[in-house]
Amino acid sequence: TWGRVKEQLLEAVGRSNFANWIEPLEMVEIEEGVAVFTVPTSFMANWVSRNFSDVIVKHLVAAGVPATRLDFKVVANRRANGAVPAGNQPKGDAMSATPAPAAEVNVETKPEELPGAPLDARFTFDNFVVGKPNELAHAAARRVAEGGPVTFNPLFLYGGVGLGKTHLMHAIAHEIRERSPELRVLYLSAEQFMYRFVQALRDRQMIDFKQIFRSVDVLMVDDVQFIAGKDSTQEEFFHTFNALVDQNKQIIISADRAPGEIKDLEDRIKSRLQCGLVVDLHPTDYELRLGILQTKAEAYRAQYPDLQFADGVLEFLAHRITTNVRVLEGALMRLFAFASLVDREITLELTQECLADILKASDRKVTVEEIQRKVAEHYSIRLSDIIGPKRVRSIARPRQVAMYLSKQLTSRSLPEIGRRFGGRDHTTVMHGVRRIEDLQIQDSQLADDIELLRHALDA
Ligand code: ADP
Ligand code: MG
Repeated sequence: TWGRVKEQLLEAVGRSNFANWIEPLEMVEIEEGVAVFTVPTSFMANWVSRNFSDVIVKHLVAAGVPATRLDFKVVANRRANGAVPAGNQPKGDAMSATPAPAAEVNVETKPEELPGAPLDARFTFDNFVVGKPNELAHAAARRVAEGGPVTFNPLFLYGGVGLGKTHLMHAIAHEIRERSPELRVLYLSAEQFMYRFVQALRDRQMIDFKQIFRSVDVLMVDDVQFIAGKDSTQEEFFHTFNALVDQNKQIIISADRAPGEIKDLEDRIKSRLQCGLVVDLHPTDYELRLGILQTKAEAYRAQYPDLQFADGVLEFLAHRITTNVRVLEGALMRLFAFASLVDREITLELTQECLADILKASDRKVTVEEIQRKVAEHYSIRLSDIIGPKRVRSIARPRQVAMYLSKQLTSRSLPEIGRRFGGRDHTTVMHGVRRIEDLQIQDSQLADDIELLRHALDA
Protein backbone atom coordinates (compact mmCIF):
# COMPACT_ATOMS: atom_id res chain seq x y z
CA THR A 1 0.00 0.00 0.00
CA TRP A 2 2.75 2.45 0.94
CA GLY A 3 4.25 1.92 -2.50
CA ARG A 4 0.99 3.00 -4.10
CA VAL A 5 0.56 5.93 -1.77
CA LYS A 6 4.10 7.00 -2.62
CA GLU A 7 3.20 7.18 -6.28
CA GLN A 8 0.33 9.47 -5.41
CA LEU A 9 2.58 11.56 -3.22
CA LEU A 10 5.11 11.96 -5.99
CA GLU A 11 2.44 13.71 -7.97
CA ALA A 12 1.18 15.71 -5.04
CA VAL A 13 4.48 17.14 -3.81
CA GLY A 14 6.63 17.21 -6.93
CA ARG A 15 9.75 15.38 -7.91
CA SER A 16 12.30 17.22 -5.85
CA ASN A 17 10.25 17.28 -2.64
CA PHE A 18 9.54 13.65 -3.16
CA ALA A 19 13.17 12.70 -3.60
CA ASN A 20 14.24 14.70 -0.58
CA TRP A 21 11.55 13.95 1.91
CA ILE A 22 9.16 11.18 0.95
CA GLU A 23 11.34 8.65 -0.78
CA PRO A 24 13.49 7.95 2.29
CA LEU A 25 10.45 7.27 4.49
CA GLU A 26 9.51 3.73 5.28
CA MET A 27 6.19 2.84 6.81
CA VAL A 28 6.75 0.18 9.44
CA GLU A 29 3.40 -0.23 11.08
CA ILE A 30 -0.03 1.21 11.58
CA GLU A 31 -1.68 0.96 14.93
CA GLU A 32 -4.79 2.62 16.23
CA GLY A 33 -4.71 5.25 13.55
CA VAL A 34 -1.03 6.01 13.99
CA ALA A 35 1.14 5.34 10.97
CA VAL A 36 4.72 4.79 12.06
CA PHE A 37 7.58 5.66 9.73
CA THR A 38 11.30 5.31 9.95
CA VAL A 39 13.44 8.24 8.86
CA PRO A 40 17.20 8.57 8.60
CA THR A 41 17.63 11.81 10.56
CA SER A 42 15.89 13.84 13.17
CA PHE A 43 15.97 16.87 10.92
CA MET A 44 13.99 14.94 8.47
CA ALA A 45 11.47 13.81 11.06
CA ASN A 46 10.92 17.41 12.03
CA TRP A 47 10.71 18.63 8.51
CA VAL A 48 8.40 15.97 7.21
CA SER A 49 6.12 16.23 10.19
CA ARG A 50 5.90 19.97 9.85
CA ASN A 51 5.48 20.17 6.12
CA PHE A 52 4.13 16.95 4.77
CA SER A 53 2.02 15.35 7.49
CA ASP A 54 -1.25 16.58 6.09
CA VAL A 55 -0.64 15.45 2.58
CA ILE A 56 0.64 12.05 3.69
CA VAL A 57 -2.34 11.45 5.94
CA LYS A 58 -4.68 12.52 3.18
CA HIS A 59 -3.24 10.07 0.69
CA LEU A 60 -3.05 7.25 3.22
CA VAL A 61 -6.72 7.70 3.96
CA ALA A 62 -7.55 7.88 0.28
CA ALA A 63 -5.76 4.55 -0.18
CA GLY A 64 -7.85 3.00 2.59
CA VAL A 65 -5.30 3.21 5.41
CA PRO A 66 -7.10 4.43 8.52
CA ALA A 67 -4.41 6.85 9.62
CA THR A 68 -5.10 9.98 11.60
CA ARG A 69 -1.58 10.87 12.54
CA LEU A 70 2.05 9.98 11.93
CA ASP A 71 4.90 8.95 14.16
CA PHE A 72 8.54 8.95 13.19
CA LYS A 73 11.39 6.79 14.38
CA VAL A 74 14.88 7.91 13.66
CA VAL A 75 17.00 4.97 12.62
CA ALA A 76 20.48 4.50 11.23
CA ASN A 77 21.42 7.04 8.70
CA ARG A 78 23.22 5.78 5.65
CA ARG A 79 23.85 9.23 4.28
CA ALA A 80 26.79 11.44 5.02
CA ASN A 81 24.94 13.91 7.13
CA GLY A 82 24.94 12.34 10.53
CA ALA A 83 26.33 8.97 9.60
CA VAL A 84 26.15 6.69 12.58
CA PRO A 85 28.42 3.68 12.80
CA ALA A 86 26.54 0.42 12.42
CA GLY A 87 25.83 -1.27 15.71
CA ASN A 88 25.69 2.07 17.39
CA GLN A 89 22.20 2.89 16.29
CA PRO A 90 19.65 4.05 18.72
CA LYS A 91 16.66 1.79 18.72
CA GLY A 92 14.57 4.74 17.71
CA ASP A 93 11.96 6.05 20.04
CA ALA A 94 8.68 6.58 18.37
CA MET A 95 7.96 10.24 18.26
CA SER A 96 4.65 11.86 18.11
CA ALA A 97 4.57 14.16 15.16
CA THR A 98 1.06 15.03 14.13
CA PRO A 99 -0.91 17.00 15.00
CA ALA A 100 1.48 18.29 17.59
CA PRO A 101 3.32 21.46 16.59
CA ALA A 102 6.88 20.99 15.48
CA ALA A 103 8.32 22.30 18.70
CA GLU A 104 6.94 19.31 20.53
CA VAL A 105 8.56 16.84 18.23
CA ASN A 106 11.27 15.94 20.61
CA VAL A 107 13.80 14.24 18.46
CA GLU A 108 16.99 13.18 20.13
CA THR A 109 20.05 14.15 18.17
CA LYS A 110 22.93 11.80 17.94
CA PRO A 111 26.42 13.03 18.77
CA GLU A 112 27.79 12.64 15.30
CA GLU A 113 24.97 14.35 13.59
CA LEU A 114 25.99 17.65 12.09
CA PRO A 115 24.46 20.56 13.95
CA GLY A 116 23.03 22.15 10.82
CA ALA A 117 19.68 23.68 10.06
CA PRO A 118 17.14 21.75 8.01
CA LEU A 119 16.96 22.62 4.35
CA ASP A 120 13.79 23.89 2.77
CA ALA A 121 12.88 21.28 0.17
CA ARG A 122 11.43 23.94 -2.11
CA PHE A 123 14.68 25.90 -2.32
CA THR A 124 16.21 24.07 -5.25
CA PHE A 125 17.92 25.23 -8.42
CA ASP A 126 14.90 23.97 -10.33
CA ASN A 127 12.69 26.37 -8.44
CA PHE A 128 15.00 29.33 -8.77
CA VAL A 129 14.03 31.74 -11.50
CA VAL A 130 17.04 33.31 -13.15
CA GLY A 131 17.06 36.86 -14.49
CA LYS A 132 19.56 39.64 -15.08
CA PRO A 133 19.76 40.72 -11.43
CA ASN A 134 20.71 37.28 -10.12
CA GLU A 135 22.34 35.50 -13.03
CA LEU A 136 25.89 35.89 -11.77
CA ALA A 137 25.05 34.72 -8.28
CA HIS A 138 23.13 31.82 -9.73
CA ALA A 139 25.96 30.83 -12.05
CA ALA A 140 28.50 30.98 -9.24
CA ALA A 141 26.27 28.93 -6.95
CA ARG A 142 25.77 26.33 -9.65
CA ARG A 143 29.47 26.13 -10.32
CA VAL A 144 30.29 25.58 -6.68
CA ALA A 145 27.52 23.00 -6.33
CA GLU A 146 28.76 21.10 -9.34
CA GLY A 147 32.30 21.10 -7.98
CA GLY A 148 33.86 21.80 -11.34
CA PRO A 149 37.55 22.40 -11.90
CA VAL A 150 37.37 26.04 -10.88
CA THR A 151 36.24 26.41 -7.33
CA PHE A 152 35.71 29.69 -5.66
CA ASN A 153 36.64 29.58 -2.05
CA PRO A 154 34.93 31.06 -0.27
CA LEU A 155 31.89 31.92 -2.32
CA PHE A 156 30.40 35.04 -0.80
CA LEU A 157 26.82 35.90 -1.77
CA TYR A 158 25.33 39.17 -0.69
CA GLY A 159 22.20 41.22 -1.31
CA GLY A 160 19.14 42.76 0.27
CA VAL A 161 16.36 41.00 2.10
CA GLY A 162 14.32 38.48 0.16
CA LEU A 163 16.44 38.41 -2.97
CA GLY A 164 17.20 34.69 -2.82
CA LYS A 165 20.40 34.26 -0.81
CA THR A 166 19.03 31.55 1.43
CA HIS A 167 17.29 29.92 -1.50
CA LEU A 168 20.56 29.67 -3.42
CA MET A 169 22.45 28.33 -0.43
CA HIS A 170 19.90 25.59 0.17
CA ALA A 171 19.97 24.81 -3.53
CA ILE A 172 23.74 24.34 -3.37
CA ALA A 173 23.36 22.04 -0.37
CA HIS A 174 20.64 19.96 -2.05
CA GLU A 175 22.69 19.66 -5.19
CA ILE A 176 25.88 18.61 -3.43
CA ARG A 177 24.04 16.08 -1.31
CA GLU A 178 22.50 14.61 -4.40
CA ARG A 179 25.68 14.49 -6.43
CA SER A 180 28.04 13.46 -3.67
CA PRO A 181 26.14 11.91 -0.79
CA GLU A 182 29.42 11.02 0.89
CA LEU A 183 30.28 14.67 1.48
CA ARG A 184 29.47 16.19 4.83
CA VAL A 185 27.55 19.35 4.10
CA LEU A 186 26.78 21.67 6.98
CA TYR A 187 24.40 24.56 6.47
CA LEU A 188 23.45 26.92 9.27
CA SER A 189 22.84 30.57 9.98
CA ALA A 190 25.52 32.68 11.66
CA GLU A 191 23.11 33.03 14.54
CA GLN A 192 22.96 29.27 14.94
CA PHE A 193 26.71 29.11 14.70
CA MET A 194 26.94 31.51 17.61
CA TYR A 195 24.34 29.61 19.55
CA ARG A 196 26.19 26.31 19.11
CA PHE A 197 29.42 27.96 20.05
CA VAL A 198 28.04 29.48 23.24
CA GLN A 199 26.39 26.20 24.12
CA ALA A 200 29.65 24.32 23.63
CA LEU A 201 31.49 26.80 25.81
CA ARG A 202 28.91 26.46 28.53
CA ASP A 203 28.85 22.68 28.39
CA ARG A 204 32.64 22.48 28.13
CA GLN A 205 32.42 20.75 24.80
CA MET A 206 34.66 22.97 22.77
CA ILE A 207 36.75 20.07 21.62
CA ASP A 208 33.72 18.38 20.13
CA PHE A 209 32.59 21.64 18.66
CA LYS A 210 35.87 22.28 16.93
CA GLN A 211 36.10 18.74 15.75
CA ILE A 212 32.64 18.77 14.22
CA PHE A 213 33.04 22.09 12.46
CA ARG A 214 36.48 21.23 11.17
CA SER A 215 35.48 17.86 9.82
CA VAL A 216 32.90 19.00 7.31
CA ASP A 217 33.50 19.05 3.58
CA VAL A 218 31.25 21.97 2.86
CA LEU A 219 30.43 24.69 5.37
CA MET A 220 27.65 27.15 4.59
CA VAL A 221 26.98 30.07 6.93
CA ASP A 222 23.97 32.24 6.16
CA ASP A 223 23.62 35.90 7.20
CA VAL A 224 27.16 36.22 8.49
CA GLN A 225 26.60 39.90 9.32
CA PHE A 226 25.00 38.59 12.48
CA ILE A 227 28.32 37.80 14.14
CA ALA A 228 29.67 41.31 13.59
CA GLY A 229 30.54 42.78 16.96
CA LYS A 230 30.36 39.40 18.71
CA ASP A 231 34.03 39.05 19.49
CA SER A 232 34.56 35.51 20.67
CA THR A 233 32.18 34.11 18.07
CA GLN A 234 34.09 35.94 15.36
CA GLU A 235 37.31 34.57 16.72
CA GLU A 236 36.03 31.01 16.55
CA PHE A 237 34.54 31.56 13.14
CA PHE A 238 37.87 32.84 11.88
CA HIS A 239 39.70 29.75 13.10
CA THR A 240 37.08 27.41 11.71
CA PHE A 241 37.27 29.23 8.41
CA ASN A 242 41.05 29.00 8.21
CA ALA A 243 41.14 25.37 9.22
CA LEU A 244 38.69 24.47 6.46
CA VAL A 245 40.35 26.57 3.79
CA ASP A 246 43.67 24.96 4.66
CA GLN A 247 42.11 21.58 4.04
CA ASN A 248 40.69 22.77 0.74
CA LYS A 249 37.13 22.48 1.95
CA GLN A 250 34.44 24.55 0.32
CA ILE A 251 32.99 27.48 2.23
CA ILE A 252 29.90 29.42 1.22
CA ILE A 253 28.86 32.54 3.06
CA SER A 254 25.99 34.97 2.69
CA ALA A 255 25.39 38.42 4.09
CA ASP A 256 23.14 41.39 3.55
CA ARG A 257 26.03 43.50 2.29
CA ALA A 258 29.55 43.29 0.89
CA PRO A 259 32.29 42.06 3.26
CA GLY A 260 33.94 45.45 3.38
CA GLU A 261 30.72 47.09 4.43
CA ILE A 262 29.86 44.94 7.41
CA LYS A 263 30.38 47.13 10.43
CA ASP A 264 32.21 45.69 13.44
CA LEU A 265 33.49 42.73 11.52
CA GLU A 266 37.17 42.15 12.14
CA ASP A 267 39.42 43.23 9.31
CA ARG A 268 41.15 39.89 9.07
CA ILE A 269 37.77 38.23 8.56
CA LYS A 270 36.78 40.79 5.96
CA SER A 271 39.91 40.18 3.98
CA ARG A 272 39.46 36.42 4.28
CA LEU A 273 35.93 36.71 2.97
CA GLN A 274 37.08 38.85 0.07
CA CYS A 275 39.68 36.49 -1.21
CA GLY A 276 37.27 34.11 -2.88
CA LEU A 277 34.48 35.09 -5.21
CA VAL A 278 32.17 37.86 -4.06
CA VAL A 279 28.90 38.19 -5.98
CA ASP A 280 25.83 40.20 -5.27
CA LEU A 281 22.15 39.69 -5.92
CA HIS A 282 20.76 42.90 -7.35
CA PRO A 283 17.27 44.15 -6.58
CA THR A 284 14.77 42.42 -8.83
CA ASP A 285 13.69 43.97 -12.10
CA TYR A 286 10.27 43.77 -13.70
CA GLU A 287 11.09 40.77 -15.91
CA LEU A 288 12.46 38.72 -13.04
CA ARG A 289 9.47 39.49 -10.85
CA LEU A 290 7.11 38.51 -13.63
CA GLY A 291 9.05 35.30 -14.22
CA ILE A 292 8.88 34.38 -10.55
CA LEU A 293 5.16 35.16 -10.42
CA GLN A 294 4.48 33.07 -13.50
CA THR A 295 6.32 30.12 -12.04
CA LYS A 296 4.51 30.32 -8.73
CA ALA A 297 1.12 30.99 -10.30
CA GLU A 298 1.54 27.87 -12.41
CA ALA A 299 1.87 25.84 -9.24
CA TYR A 300 -1.15 27.50 -7.66
CA ARG A 301 -3.25 26.94 -10.72
CA ALA A 302 -2.56 23.25 -10.46
CA GLN A 303 -3.57 23.41 -6.84
CA TYR A 304 -6.78 25.37 -7.50
CA PRO A 305 -7.81 24.05 -10.92
CA ASP A 306 -11.28 25.60 -10.81
CA LEU A 307 -10.15 29.18 -10.32
CA GLN A 308 -10.44 31.58 -13.21
CA PHE A 309 -7.47 33.82 -13.68
CA ALA A 310 -7.70 37.06 -15.66
CA ASP A 311 -4.95 38.39 -17.90
CA GLY A 312 -2.84 41.21 -16.62
CA VAL A 313 -2.93 40.34 -12.93
CA LEU A 314 0.63 39.06 -12.76
CA GLU A 315 1.91 42.00 -14.77
CA PHE A 316 0.12 44.33 -12.39
CA LEU A 317 1.73 42.67 -9.36
CA ALA A 318 5.19 42.60 -10.92
CA HIS A 319 4.85 46.29 -11.59
CA ARG A 320 3.52 47.27 -8.22
CA ILE A 321 5.27 45.05 -5.68
CA THR A 322 8.93 45.83 -6.07
CA THR A 323 10.24 45.44 -2.56
CA ASN A 324 11.22 41.82 -2.19
CA VAL A 325 10.39 38.40 -3.51
CA ARG A 326 9.05 37.15 -0.21
CA VAL A 327 6.39 39.86 -0.22
CA LEU A 328 5.59 39.06 -3.83
CA GLU A 329 5.12 35.38 -3.03
CA GLY A 330 3.03 36.15 0.02
CA ALA A 331 0.78 38.39 -2.05
CA LEU A 332 0.19 35.71 -4.64
CA MET A 333 -0.54 33.08 -2.04
CA ARG A 334 -3.02 35.34 -0.30
CA LEU A 335 -4.67 36.16 -3.61
CA PHE A 336 -5.27 32.52 -4.51
CA ALA A 337 -6.45 31.60 -1.05
CA PHE A 338 -8.83 34.55 -0.94
CA ALA A 339 -10.22 33.94 -4.43
CA SER A 340 -10.86 30.29 -3.70
CA LEU A 341 -12.51 31.16 -0.42
CA VAL A 342 -14.93 33.63 -1.93
CA ASP A 343 -15.07 31.57 -5.11
CA ARG A 344 -14.47 34.45 -7.47
CA GLU A 345 -12.38 34.93 -10.55
CA ILE A 346 -8.98 36.50 -9.93
CA THR A 347 -9.37 39.83 -11.64
CA LEU A 348 -7.48 43.07 -11.33
CA GLU A 349 -10.27 44.38 -9.20
CA LEU A 350 -10.21 41.44 -6.81
CA THR A 351 -6.43 41.76 -6.62
CA GLN A 352 -6.61 45.40 -5.62
CA GLU A 353 -9.26 44.65 -3.06
CA CYS A 354 -7.51 41.65 -1.54
CA LEU A 355 -4.02 43.15 -1.50
CA ALA A 356 -4.83 46.76 -0.68
CA ASP A 357 -2.50 46.89 2.31
CA ILE A 358 0.46 45.32 0.55
CA LEU A 359 -0.01 47.51 -2.50
CA LYS A 360 -0.17 50.60 -0.39
CA ALA A 361 2.98 49.67 1.51
CA SER A 362 4.95 49.05 -1.64
CA ASP A 363 3.89 52.19 -3.42
CA ARG A 364 6.87 53.38 -5.33
CA LYS A 365 9.10 55.70 -3.41
CA VAL A 366 10.87 58.27 -5.53
CA THR A 367 14.24 59.49 -4.31
CA VAL A 368 15.80 62.92 -4.60
CA GLU A 369 18.66 61.36 -6.56
CA GLU A 370 16.26 59.90 -9.12
CA ILE A 371 14.55 63.23 -9.50
CA GLN A 372 17.87 64.98 -10.06
CA ARG A 373 18.87 62.44 -12.66
CA LYS A 374 15.60 62.70 -14.58
CA VAL A 375 15.59 66.47 -14.47
CA ALA A 376 19.17 66.63 -15.75
CA GLU A 377 18.24 64.25 -18.54
CA HIS A 378 15.14 66.23 -19.42
CA TYR A 379 16.97 69.53 -19.70
CA SER A 380 20.09 67.98 -21.22
CA ILE A 381 22.39 69.25 -18.53
CA ARG A 382 24.84 67.41 -16.35
CA LEU A 383 23.85 65.89 -13.03
CA SER A 384 26.90 67.55 -11.47
CA ASP A 385 25.55 70.92 -12.57
CA ILE A 386 22.26 70.34 -10.77
CA ILE A 387 24.16 69.79 -7.57
CA GLY A 388 26.96 72.23 -8.31
CA PRO A 389 27.26 76.00 -7.76
CA LYS A 390 26.51 77.47 -11.23
CA ARG A 391 23.93 80.23 -11.24
CA VAL A 392 23.20 80.69 -14.92
CA ARG A 393 19.48 80.48 -15.64
CA SER A 394 19.81 77.43 -17.93
CA ILE A 395 21.03 75.47 -14.92
CA ALA A 396 19.46 77.29 -11.99
CA ARG A 397 15.93 76.83 -13.31
CA PRO A 398 16.18 73.03 -13.75
CA ARG A 399 17.77 72.88 -10.31
CA GLN A 400 14.72 74.63 -8.87
CA VAL A 401 12.44 72.24 -10.72
CA ALA A 402 14.32 69.33 -9.15
CA MET A 403 13.96 70.93 -5.71
CA TYR A 404 10.27 71.49 -6.28
CA LEU A 405 9.70 67.88 -7.35
CA SER A 406 11.76 66.63 -4.41
CA LYS A 407 9.52 68.55 -2.05
CA GLN A 408 6.38 67.31 -3.80
CA LEU A 409 7.25 63.68 -4.35
CA THR A 410 9.42 62.65 -1.43
CA SER A 411 8.97 62.97 2.30
CA ARG A 412 12.31 64.74 2.69
CA SER A 413 12.42 67.97 4.68
CA LEU A 414 13.81 71.20 3.23
CA PRO A 415 17.18 70.88 5.04
CA GLU A 416 17.46 67.24 3.88
CA ILE A 417 16.77 68.28 0.32
CA GLY A 418 19.29 71.11 0.62
CA ARG A 419 21.95 68.66 1.72
CA ARG A 420 21.34 66.58 -1.39
CA PHE A 421 21.76 69.64 -3.55
CA GLY A 422 25.40 70.14 -2.74
CA GLY A 423 24.82 71.29 0.83
CA ARG A 424 22.51 74.21 0.14
CA ASP A 425 20.66 76.01 2.88
CA HIS A 426 17.01 75.15 3.51
CA THR A 427 15.96 78.72 2.70
CA THR A 428 17.49 78.35 -0.75
CA VAL A 429 15.41 75.23 -1.27
CA MET A 430 12.29 76.98 -0.04
CA HIS A 431 12.93 79.86 -2.38
CA GLY A 432 13.35 77.48 -5.32
CA VAL A 433 10.17 75.60 -4.51
CA ARG A 434 8.12 78.83 -4.25
CA ARG A 435 9.61 80.16 -7.46
CA ILE A 436 8.48 77.12 -9.40
CA GLU A 437 5.05 77.16 -7.79
CA ASP A 438 4.60 80.76 -8.94
CA LEU A 439 6.08 80.41 -12.39
CA GLN A 440 4.06 77.35 -13.28
CA ILE A 441 0.87 79.37 -13.28
CA GLN A 442 1.91 81.61 -16.16
CA ASP A 443 4.53 79.47 -17.85
CA SER A 444 2.74 76.66 -19.63
CA GLN A 445 6.01 75.27 -21.00
CA LEU A 446 7.27 74.86 -17.45
CA ALA A 447 4.00 73.28 -16.36
CA ASP A 448 4.28 70.79 -19.22
CA ASP A 449 7.87 70.00 -18.31
CA ILE A 450 6.84 69.23 -14.76
CA GLU A 451 3.98 67.08 -15.89
CA LEU A 452 6.31 65.12 -18.17
CA LEU A 453 8.84 64.68 -15.41
CA ARG A 454 6.23 63.43 -12.99
CA HIS A 455 5.23 60.89 -15.54
CA ALA A 456 8.82 59.84 -16.19
CA LEU A 457 9.25 59.37 -12.47
CA ASP A 458 6.19 57.19 -12.40
CA ALA A 459 4.71 59.30 -9.64
P1 ADP B 1 17.12 36.11 1.40
O1 ADP B 1 17.77 34.96 2.07
O2 ADP B 1 18.00 36.77 0.37
O3 ADP B 1 16.53 37.10 2.34
P2 ADP B 1 15.31 34.08 0.46
O4 ADP B 1 16.28 33.18 -0.19
O5 ADP B 1 14.80 33.66 1.79
O6 ADP B 1 15.89 35.56 0.55
O7 ADP B 1 14.09 34.34 -0.54
C1 ADP B 1 12.82 34.82 -0.12
C2 ADP B 1 11.74 34.08 -0.84
O8 ADP B 1 11.75 34.45 -2.21
C3 ADP B 1 11.92 32.58 -0.80
O9 ADP B 1 10.66 31.97 -0.67
C4 ADP B 1 12.52 32.24 -2.16
O10 ADP B 1 12.15 30.97 -2.59
C5 ADP B 1 11.93 33.32 -3.04
N1 ADP B 1 12.82 33.70 -4.13
C6 ADP B 1 13.78 34.65 -4.12
N2 ADP B 1 14.38 34.75 -5.31
C7 ADP B 1 13.81 33.83 -6.10
C8 ADP B 1 14.00 33.43 -7.47
N3 ADP B 1 14.91 34.01 -8.25
N4 ADP B 1 13.20 32.44 -7.95
C9 ADP B 1 12.27 31.87 -7.18
N5 ADP B 1 12.04 32.19 -5.90
C10 ADP B 1 12.80 33.16 -5.36
MG1 MG C 1 18.09 34.57 4.07
